[in-house]
Amino acid sequence: MTRIASVLIPMPLPEAFDYAEPEGMDLVVGEQVAVPLGPNLMRGVVVALRDAMGGNRPLKPVAERLDDPALPAGVLEFVQWAARYAVDTPGAPLAIALRGARAPKARPVRVVEPTGAQPARLTPARARVLEAATEALPPAELARRADVSAGVVKALLDEGVLAGRLIEPEAAFDPPDLTRSGATLNPSQAAAAAALKGMLAEGGFNVALLDGVTGSGKTEVYLEAVAAALAADPNAQALILLPEIALTQAVIQRVADRFGAAPGEWHSDIAPPARRRLWEAVAAGRCRIVVGARSALFLPFTKLALIVVDEEHDTSFKQEEGFIYQARDLAVARAKIEGAGVVLASATPSLESLRNAETGRYRWLRLSARHGAARLPDIELIDLRETPPEHGRWLSPPLVQAMAETWARGEQTLLFLNRRGYAPLVLCKACGERMTAPDTDSWLVEHRYSGRLVCHLTGFSMPKPAACPHCGAADSLVSIGPGVERVEEEARSLFPEARISVFSSDTVFDAREGRRLVQAMAEGQIDILVATQAAAKGHNFPGLTLVGVVDADLGLRGGDLRAAERTYQLLAQASGRAGRKDRPGRALLQTYAPEHAVMQALKAQDRDAFVAAEMAERELAGLPPFGRLAAVVVSGPDAARLEAFVRGMAEVAPNTPGVEVYGPADAPLGLIRGRRRKRFLVRADRSVDLSAYMAAWRARVKPPGAIRLAIDIDPYSFL
Ligand code: ADP
Repeated sequence: MTRIASVLIPMPLPEAFDYAEPEGMDLVVGEQVAVPLGPNLMRGVVVALRDAMGGNRPLKPVAERLDDPALPAGVLEFVQWAARYAVDTPGAPLAIALRGARAPKARPVRVVEPTGAQPARLTPARARVLEAATEALPPAELARRADVSAGVVKALLDEGVLAGRLIEPEAAFDPPDLTRSGATLNPSQAAAAAALKGMLAEGGFNVALLDGVTGSGKTEVYLEAVAAALAADPNAQALILLPEIALTQAVIQRVADRFGAAPGEWHSDIAPPARRRLWEAVAAGRCRIVVGARSALFLPFTKLALIVVDEEHDTSFKQEEGFIYQARDLAVARAKIEGAGVVLASATPSLESLRNAETGRYRWLRLSARHGAARLPDIELIDLRETPPEHGRWLSPPLVQAMAETWARGEQTLLFLNRRGYAPLVLCKACGERMTAPDTDSWLVEHRYSGRLVCHLTGFSMPKPAACPHCGAADSLVSIGPGVERVEEEARSLFPEARISVFSSDTVFDAREGRRLVQAMAEGQIDILVATQAAAKGHNFPGLTLVGVVDADLGLRGGDLRAAERTYQLLAQASGRAGRKDRPGRALLQTYAPEHAVMQALKAQDRDAFVAAEMAERELAGLPPFGRLAAVVVSGPDAARLEAFVRGMAEVAPNTPGVEVYGPADAPLGLIRGRRRKRFLVRADRSVDLSAYMAAWRARVKPPGAIRLAIDIDPYSFL
């Protein structure tokens, strides 16, 4: 009897399609196959096999089995779970899971090796080549090892003493050396490590929140958990997830130091062939530790024993485009499917994780002091109403004085401002016109390095005009407010001798440049670093003793659900960069609202009081972590049609107890790339299956072609 294969295709299709299994193909669930779809052959994954009952219409056959590793059952289950949770098609997460499988293979490498034939003439150089040729090597490498010119190797090849062949390059992924020991842990670190090891020894799905102040040694502790997980089973694998590519290098180095072998590295900066190699090595169990960004969660681990989510509070774990997901939450889901342990690490955990720790769902491990003699920095508020900067300047006298003292001691300053570019707004002083993007509701940000006005939402940019495009007045455009470039300009004028650098996504394009800048800072080659949040997280800079936060109020404006929480986390993290080892640190926060609860909590370093107050507010409003939220963003080019569609959509929202639907309303960003945007917000009690509710609602509407509808479960952006 023939069988029917259900094949899931990595495209936005509602479900898997059925194909006939050709005689003798003997497919297995998880295997990758090519199947016809319309006129094309597509890659897909077999998700189910069943016997054909007969009598049905004939199915197209599977075209071929692909010579690529099969997806483990855990990944298939995870993909389907994630799609259901996110109310998206299963093809969307499957596309992420297959990203490595679809990347091109590295081109084969030519290597040479001895044939056994003797050279007609044995010169000393030739002898050295034969001595060095103990394994197959690329000719250039062989010449280097033998310390001869390329010509000597070529002559031996021509003579038939060496022969060349092509091999598939294969990254080594050396196994971690589990006999090495880590740092000698202090008593509280040792207690936390023992608790994690105990959790792993119990086996099965468990989550621990490793809640420790900056510099308390969370990394040292979780590396012990990684070691324990890998030692317990020779096939076990561990994943360390990080929110930013910029942070991966430091952690990769620490993993390499700890285990004597570099871990696999996975993020968007990795070249496609390397991605493919890692994907295959993970599927084959040859790579046992992966350090990666959020999509590493979809790698084909066969025996995942532990997932560490470092900086678990970081909102960069939320993927907002394409398949929308929160990697921290999905990490917990994947671990549950795999029966693995999870360590969530942070100095400023999310309210969601703290709530789970408070209620006992997660084990709560606290490290309340920095390791060794290092002290936490003193945090002081600078009231900008009392000591404002000079006109057209952004650094207040107390901050400038502290910078001068720091510079005089030969120590480093970090000026933190979470705003790229030179000025966030450019306006015409003649007519008052603000420079905005042509098809998007956003101000154009001035970038002086590039001399352009840039839309940070869409990437649109134009040269800064000489005259106002609105009224034609010449030289009338003025820059309003500061970005990092402008703060750098001010720092240079104040400290002309100092070595000053800017760290933002405009100056640091890739992991290599980020690594270079972090290293220069760590080695003391920079006196003043002006940085956006890209540098404010995770790094240890031994000579950094002063952190100046240029605009502490920035994140509070706009006031969405998590504004206070995010501001607290970001500023506590930024402040936490100051002071290590023997040198005490200081953080100065410039604010117009020193009485605000966030500023007071930072100053008193009383996270628990802040969290308690914030939790109480959320509980009262039934907001996360006490309730659930989902957003729907509907967009289209035509305002009237969009309006009609969202009205119709509101009418068919299912009526379910414990669920409230707000909207439709104009989105705060009402226009992006020429598309009008409308939003719904849905609040539900925790007991409600909000994904199921949203799926039921989604099934009742049919957006016409020009209208796009995106569902965002647990939204972080409300724009
Ligand atoms: P966290 O991840 O909590 O910020 P880290 O693990 O990065 O802390 O530790 C901060 C610094 O202190 C690092 O330079 C780390 O190497 C060092 N450190 C922490 N614990 C120890 C220890 N037990 N022995 C030696 N050095 C330690």
